[in-house]
Amino acid sequence: MRRGRLFVVSGPSGAGKGTLIAELLRRYPRTWLSVSATTRRPRPGEREGVEYFFMDEEEFARKADAGGFLEWAEVHGRRYGTPRHRVMEKMDEGCDVILEIDVQGAEQVRERMPDAVTVFVEPPSLEELERRLRERGTESEEELRERLANARLESREAAKFDYVVVNDELPRAVDELCAIYERESPLCGGG
Ligand code: ADP
Ligand code: 5GP
Repeated sequence: MRRGRLFVVSGPSGAGKGTLIAELLRRYPRTWLSVSATTRRPRPGEREGVEYFFMDEEEFARKADAGGFLEWAEVHGRRYGTPRHRVMEKMDEGCDVILEIDVQGAEQVRERMPDAVTVFVEPPSLEELERRLRERGTESEEELRERLANARLESREAAKFDYVVVNDELPRAVDELCAIYERESPLCGGG
């Protein structure tokens, strides 16, 4: 059996990573989205082990010290990390694995797993990013300001990625992401 491939999807909060990945997973049900660990609090409706594994700082630090994360980073004042074990297991089982992680995490994966395919999702403009974040309504005003400030810094990293997808019109951006996936995935005959 061919080993699966690792795909990293990064980009500013609100750029549309979650929306695009959900559509990709609908089209390719054998592809697996890694569930990250985080020290931030669950938002209403978020479930343990579904959106994230929620941990306190101590548990996260213990896991990080034990080498349990493929990568981890502090994002917007909280820690987020990719549990290593399941990612490796799924790739060995022949599934492609998607990581939805920030640009610092992408940098670490680039070093540790040079075969990974990296995709940066870019909003059409900062104004549109702000509009989408406000409409999503999941952050306080302070959190929103922090995410917009971070977006400027993150966008400077875009050139380091294998691909940049501008999420302007959703169906077009989904098609573009899926075309990249098909080209690079051993599951689809690419890679
Ligand atoms: P991220 O996962 O990058 O933080 P989301 O997928 O949550 O971003 O998208 C942020 C918000 O923007 C959501 O409310 C989503 O429905 C909306 N959205 C995503 N893509 C588009 C698009 N192409 N056009 C308009 N709204 C979009
Ligand atoms: P949120 O708190 O909105 O769910 O996520 C905030 C940010 O954390 C997003 O940019 C997301 O990509 C990033 N993130 C989520 N999981 C991980 C992870 O495991 N590692 C890293 N480095 N970033 C992550």
